Amino acid sequence: MRKTQKCATLVTAIFLGLLFQSADTPEARGARKLNVVTSTTDMAALAEEVGGDKITVESIARGYQDPHFVEAKPSFLLKLRQADLLISVGLQLEIGWLPPLITQCGNAKIQVGAPGYLDASQFSEILEIPQGVVTRAEGDVHPLGNPHYWLDPDNGRRIARGIAAKLSDLDPGDAAYFQQKLQEFDKRLSEAVQKWDTAMKPYRGKKVVTYHRSFPNFAKHFGLDVIGYVEPRPGIPPTPSHTFELIQLMKRENCKVVLVEPYFDLKTPQSIGRETGAQVVVYLPSVGGEKQVTNYFELFDYDIGLLIKAFQATQ
Ligand SMILES: [Zn+2]
Repeated sequence: MRKTQKCATLVTAIFLGLLFQSADTPEARGARKLNVVTSTTDMAALAEEVGGDKITVESIARGYQDPHFVEAKPSFLLKLRQADLLISVGLQLEIGWLPPLITQCGNAKIQVGAPGYLDASQFSEILEIPQGVVTRAEGDVHPLGNPHYWLDPDNGRRIARGIAAKLSDLDPGDAAYFQQKLQEFDKRLSEAVQKWDTAMKPYRGKKVVTYHRSFPNFAKHFGLDVIGYVEPRPGIPPTPSHTFELIQLMKRENCKVVLVEPYFDLKTPQSIGRETGAQVVVYLPSVGGEKQVTNYFELFDYDIGLLIKAFQATQ
């Protein structure tokens, strides 16, 4: 094909693309699935539960990445350009990488405030909301409250309900389907929560330390006591003086478990483990943190299994 021909083909393709985009009402879309993009895998997992085969869903961040710090790749722009709905975690979790992608993708449907933008924090119980003014100047990456709220299954249920309502708004023809999927998810989650609560009951009140403050919602739900953090503040790497104080605290409180998110260096946690006799456990804050953890249920199965093993080994 000659260069000019190629160019003409491209222009036609873009023109047709625009034409289709402008006619992209639920009716015009017909059998086409809603294209959902999420910032994280956990939101994708919950969307998948209620969207079933009426949506396609893809997460920008991978489950083994620190969701605070994701490298913005050009390929993400393409995904966002084609999205009908963008689901974010919010509370500034993605502030370092998502806002520029949203503005640069040029998709009016998913701009903040548009019908195709959904911030899931609005549905969830948020912990650690700071009193007074907290700025990121101090390095704290949780200035609006703790954004790792999906690790309480009750929040998972609330988020799923919010997503189902949004999908129904965008695709009213399939509202009954989304409602049905939500009810099924709700039932399965209730059964799973009962199982998880029973398994964790003997360990209520157990003391743990976590690397990052990713764990308050999980700890609250299952009655664990997070007594300290390897990071001096969320987003600030460990310092020798803070690590020394943490070791003293763990010895005083007889804390024997250090939980580490998969994207942190294990050097400091391991030295804490040596000093205190604590088990260092790499737990998963997100779906996809390990290959076998492919959905919201498997995430809790995996972490609860690890925790029980660690508590039993240190009893
Ligand atoms: Zn965080």
